[in-house]
Amino acid sequence: MGVLLLQSRDNRGRLYIVSTGPGNLLHMTPRALKALGEAECVIGNGFYLDLVMPMLAGKEVIRSSMGREVDRAKKALALSEDRVVAMVSGGDAGIYGMASIVLEVAERSGTAVPVEVVPGITAAVSAASRLGSPLSGDYVTMSLSDLLTPWEEIERRLDLAFQMRVPVVLYNPRSRGRPHNLGAAIGIARRHLPAETPVGVVRNAYREGEERLITTLGEFEDHFAFVDMHSIVFVGGEETRIWRDEGDERGIITPRGYHRKYVY
Ligand code: SAH
Repeated sequence: MGVLLLQSRDNRGRLYIVSTGPGNLLHMTPRALKALGEAECVIGNGFYLDLVMPMLAGKEVIRSSMGREVDRAKKALALSEDRVVAMVSGGDAGIYGMASIVLEVAERSGTAVPVEVVPGITAAVSAASRLGSPLSGDYVTMSLSDLLTPWEEIERRLDLAFQMRVPVVLYNPRSRGRPHNLGAAIGIARRHLPAETPVGVVRNAYREGEERLITTLGEFEDHFAFVDMHSIVFVGGEETRIWRDEGDERGIITPRGYHRKYVY
């Protein structure tokens, strides 16, 4: 009791950057759920707050919109001077998420507030499980959003990535205002990979409205309309194949290499 009384409220402040996974509570870690439970105040983009709504009863909830990330980071740090604050970020907060901007703002401000980054399942990993095992070993992730990275630089990296002929995962495949990025990326893939290369798309992995599509690099163009901002695209590598069962696509497999060592 004495300890509690002596502890000034100013010392209690802390900030959790909570990764919420693909979008259903079962795919959040126990640590992430505990941090959310502890928070007095939860701040985030409205879309991600809605996905964790059952966890938010009785808490102050601050909704922030897309494109307001820097303000959101500043606000979360200011609030956490004397309160337990959780900032939610979809998938993993450290992968195309909020963790870096919060840490950069904290670094610049010289704040003493403890900040903990709580990891989560990123979309490449959750969506891969819906396709089978399209990654399995070495792979590359790229974002097709040119909001923070110049498009020329994205093209340069895509060209290098597809040259490796390992699976490439495309986040943000349909950038706001730049619907042609996906076509351009697939054009670059075609320079280095055959038309039969498997392509998988998962829309809304582990969320309401989940759908998947399995096609090939050669035929993908006919299905671009399927792809939106809630989708993630997998372009296979040179060893990736589609598991077909009497004409149905069961999934996508990239062998890890056991066939080179064992008979099965
Ligand atoms: N930090 C997030 C990524 C944010 S970038 C993470 O680690 O997953 C936003 C992009 O992530 C979307 O455009 C989409 O490509 C992908 N994404 C995030 N959640 C997804 C989901 N549940 N299903 C499919 N794609 C998803």
